[in-house]
Amino acid sequence: MLTQADSRLVESSFKKYYLEKADTVYVPERISEREFGYFTFQERIMVRHLYIDSPEKLREFLVKNNPLHVYHSLAFYKYPSAPMEEKEWMGAELAFDIDADHLKTPCKGKHDFKVCPKCFTAYSTQKEVCSNCGGALIDSEWICELCLESAKQETLKLLDFLEEDLGFKNLKVAFSGNRGYHVVVKDEEISELGQIERKEIVDYITGTGISMRLMGLVEDTVKGKALKIRGPDISDPGWRGRIARASIQLALRADPIEFSELTSTSYKLADKCAAILRQFSEEWSERCAWDLLPRNVVKLLAKAAVNHASAKIDVVVTSDIHRLIRLGNTINGKSGLLARVIDIDELEDFDPFLQTVVLPYDKMVEVRVLKAPKFRMLGEEYGPLENTMAKLPMAVAIFLILKNLATVSKPYAL
Ligand SMILES: [Zn+2]
Ligand SMILES: [Zn+2]
Repeated sequence: MLTQADSRLVESSFKKYYLEKADTVYVPERISEREFGYFTFQERIMVRHLYIDSPEKLREFLVKNNPLHVYHSLAFYKYPSAPMEEKEWMGAELAFDIDADHLKTPCKGKHDFKVCPKCFTAYSTQKEVCSNCGGALIDSEWICELCLESAKQETLKLLDFLEEDLGFKNLKVAFSGNRGYHVVVKDEEISELGQIERKEIVDYITGTGISMRLMGLVEDTVKGKALKIRGPDISDPGWRGRIARASIQLALRADPIEFSELTSTSYKLADKCAAILRQFSEEWSERCAWDLLPRNVVKLLAKAAVNHASAKIDVVVTSDIHRLIRLGNTINGKSGLLARVIDIDELEDFDPFLQTVVLPYDKMVEVRVLKAPKFRMLGEEYGPLENTMAKLPMAVAIFLILKNLATVSKPYAL
């Protein structure tokens, strides 16, 4: 809920960007078979079912409409601008969304808070309504470098599944412009997969319903008595190798908090297991020494390993064959950062707070900041700020404004 003055400032900088840079926007293949949609600045409504048939028209569209957010369908339709039931679906790319919001990063508790946008007041996450006006509070949705780093690690894990296990070749990776990353599989073979087949891919990547016995984790028994436990090895292909490698990592760390979180078991049990693992840690640095561990520890370790090795994707996005996805190399209206398309080889070193800052940085704006934890942009450090006036580069001011954490309006005119 931006004030008019805030909205005008953001809108004019987006406009300037598209006037100058519309030709750098990502142009999806088979553009004329896709549905486009966007959010307007003014009414903040979604306009959908648009048909754009060429890169030139796409650029014209961006300059003319100056969208707050812009999306295109992963699906190809015979009639992209028709109502949903008349579009005639002809296939769709396969998309994955990794959002830091769904990851259990330890920093969350430190930087999350709520705000009343009306009263411009910050509250702790436990509060539901504003003490001043009684209105509903909104999450600050703060993004920090650690959160984005975790999201990147999940994306790298996902890419490993897609390339190594599933053999996909034609992948597109992009920063979402806010809290995560998108991966799109463009290989033609997947185009006609339905929801159920896509769900199977999701289950594979998330390790859902994995049978430990089929992963080679077995007990040799004689007359019903357990003799020895055998398990997968690090050089095994696919999930077996993943479980083995993750087990070693976890065994060497032997961190009860991590175990307890990864397996949703009590801290007490996790602590017991960690103590046993510490006892055998030397053996585990050499090999997966499954045979040394008691049965319950093996079970817990393997379960934790599956969770640790799986990629934390948003399962709903991947199964949805009508999904719209953010257009690459456009500005995200929740941050003012670029939803940049990234070369896969460059993902590991990609720095979102450096490589996606595209709004003016040399022009300063004075804003009233409600609250901002410490953050870094283009190598400069800002904050922590609270209830203060600050002169900030335009891109930084807009980042805070779009998060409802700063305003150019006078405080009492709100
Ligand atoms: Zn309020
Ligand atoms: Zn964080």
